Amino acid sequence: MPSSTHIAPSSSIRLLDRFYGTFLFMCVVFLTIGVPFVFYRKTASAVASMVVAIAVLAMWRMSRKGQPQRSLKIFAAGIWTVLTGLMFAGLPPISTVALAVAVMLAVVNSLRASLFFAAAYFLAWLTYIALQSANLAPDIYFTGAPLTGWFISLIAIWLLLLPITELVHNLHHAASLQTAVIEAATDGILVVNKEGHVETHNQNFADLWNIPQELLNKADDHALLDFVSDQLVDSDQFLSKVQEMYSHPEQSSLDRLIFKDGRILERHSQPQRLDDTVVGRVWSFRDVTENENARAEIYRMAFHDALTTLPNRRLLHERLERALISSARNGLHGALLFIDLDRFKILNDTHGHDKGDMLLQQVGQRLVRCVRDADTVARLGGDEFVVLLESLSQHSKEAAAQAETVGRKMQAALNLPYALGDLESQITPSIGLTLFNGQDASVDELLKEADQAMYQSKAAGRNTLRFFDQAIHTALTERAALEIDLRDAVKQQNFLLYYQPQVVGNGCLTGAEVLVRWIDPKRGIVSPADFIPLSEETGLILPLGRWILETACVQLATWASQPAMANMTLAVNVSANQLRQSDFVEQVMEVLVRTGANPARLKLELTESLLVTHVEETILKMATLKTHGVGFSLDDFGTGYSSLSYLKRLPLEQLKIDQGFVRDILVDPNDAAIAKMVVALAESLGLKVIAEGVELEAQRGFLAEIGCLAYQGYLFSRPLPLAEFEDYCSSTRGDQADGLARC
Ligand code: C2E
Ligand code: MG
Ligand code: MG
Repeated sequence: MPSSTHIAPSSSIRLLDRFYGTFLFMCVVFLTIGVPFVFYRKTASAVASMVVAIAVLAMWRMSRKGQPQRSLKIFAAGIWTVLTGLMFAGLPPISTVALAVAVMLAVVNSLRASLFFAAAYFLAWLTYIALQSANLAPDIYFTGAPLTGWFISLIAIWLLLLPITELVHNLHHAASLQTAVIEAATDGILVVNKEGHVETHNQNFADLWNIPQELLNKADDHALLDFVSDQLVDSDQFLSKVQEMYSHPEQSSLDRLIFKDGRILERHSQPQRLDDTVVGRVWSFRDVTENENARAEIYRMAFHDALTTLPNRRLLHERLERALISSARNGLHGALLFIDLDRFKILNDTHGHDKGDMLLQQVGQRLVRCVRDADTVARLGGDEFVVLLESLSQHSKEAAAQAETVGRKMQAALNLPYALGDLESQITPSIGLTLFNGQDASVDELLKEADQAMYQSKAAGRNTLRFFDQAIHTALTERAALEIDLRDAVKQQNFLLYYQPQVVGNGCLTGAEVLVRWIDPKRGIVSPADFIPLSEETGLILPLGRWILETACVQLATWASQPAMANMTLAVNVSANQLRQSDFVEQVMEVLVRTGANPARLKLELTESLLVTHVEETILKMATLKTHGVGFSLDDFGTGYSSLSYLKRLPLEQLKIDQGFVRDILVDPNDAAIAKMVVALAESLGLKVIAEGVELEAQRGFLAEIGCLAYQGYLFSRPLPLAEFEDYCSSTRGDQADGLARC
């Protein structure tokens, strides 16, 4: 731990080494030369010298083990005792060494101890002189040679004072170094003693805290503390930290102080130790305002949206993660609302991006006003906002109601007009809402759920709010998986055509409708009802439709060379998207030419939905193909909204009564009436008519009665794979050897 007390210890220890070394040397000299030749009471002197030598070694060791001050004090006490004892044993001059020890101690910063020893020494001298004048003192041993005794004492003192002079010099040096270092530090530094009185400080400290010189000169610690704490936003916290540090002198601390003028100081505090005892505390203060502001700016930029200053996707993610954890802990629900502005693009495109930006800012502000401080309003980008509500009820129904209330409030707020400079505008939101409780769903899943719910509300006509529905979610997930596999299947052409016979009269075969099947390794044979709508939405119907048409035409061309099959017509379903392609006519013609199929054997089944828009274009395409011999049948007739006036203009060949009417034709008079009406209509327009979904003989009979003589349905056959269909053809031909002639 860095501390000012650490500036000079190594040189002090070196000096102490020399001090103890010298003393030991003196002991040895004393023992080997002095004792045998000079001194009287040799045994006592020898023992005393040995004890001193052992004590010196022990103290030396103690000093080396990190307790130099303590070792010196104990040493001084010991040496004083021995030398004062010697004085009374007849060696007063040598006891002068005791004074040297006292001086030494004064220099090594133990003034109290040194004064004590010096006083004790003089007291001993005075006692000795008093005893001597009363003739009670023991004889001075060096009677004959007092000068020798004084000389030995002087040498001893000189030897001891040598390192002490150096020590004094070093201490001065250390003190000046300490002052220079403290002053050079860019931090403000304040050193206080154990009681909290100011020991020292640097100019930066005074500058950082704007402390006037008079106050510093006064040395009134309380006034200083008041002056300092008054400048802070939270002076109580400042004072309690100071208090805490006094109660726990061993502790270090690091914290931030926020000034009323906006500055931020980092405050670091650590104890000042002498040996192992805390004797004071160093406080250092650093102005980190700029760093903090830069850091705050970086944080703001990384986690906030620049336009609205709202949290961005990243911050939302973090908050949502935390919200999930706390919801798991407290059992309370939370909600995520996904808000998308309806037709924002139009406003942006027509009035410019600056108006769009203004609107987005106002939307953000309105949303923030609708929620509590603890909730989060984030902008994901574009016109997408997400609101995270926390701490809703623990009961899901109640939580749903709470979230819905907030959602409705937002909807109402966003519906109010916006002043965008000189433009007044209006916009509506579509809101998707999902609830969460605990960590069952991940952050991404929840965002996806809210997003899906938002799409539901768009689908429900916009400017509304929808809850996420698990059933819809499952369907969408499955759909996504289906789409991936379907793309693959289209690439690899994993499809098969089934042929469902079409008959006239009692079963005379005229051809078939081709119905596609998807052969999927995982799902088996997939019904078109499950993938045709999806392939239409994704555009996959275009390559798929081309493949179907081509396969059917190849089949027609193959059958053309087989007399038994040559007359078969194939009805191919064509979806609206296919027909809408500008080159649809060319595509069909190209396939016919390439495969060599007879156009007269090809019948394209269209649905009524085709006749809702682009009617003129459709009529034109149909007419062109018709001139090449291609026939058209209107599938599922009666289920759509085709205008009868258009019907007249369409170059159709056939109407197909939808199986929905055929199913209940015997029991539901409405269905029967519609079927009758379709037959009559076909007749009046000069069109043929066929009924699909004929399952019962009675249905066929009824249809025949009302004038419909062509049928398709399970009564005759289910849709069959090619080989089975061909078998079916040969078997029916066998049954009705003359049938074909009648067809
Ligand atoms: P759709 O064109 O109306 O085809 C008739 C559907 O009725 C076929 O279903 C057929 O199997 C079924 N069906 C025929 N007879 C009966 C019966 O007696 N009873 C009952 N309950 N159903 C009968 P599938 O094959 O599942 O096809 C469903 C729909 O998928 C077709 O309706 C058609 O809209 C579409 N589709 C099938 N294949 C293709 C294709 O190659 N291209 C396009 N664009 N759509 C196709
Ligand atoms: Mg059809
Ligand atoms: Mg149909």
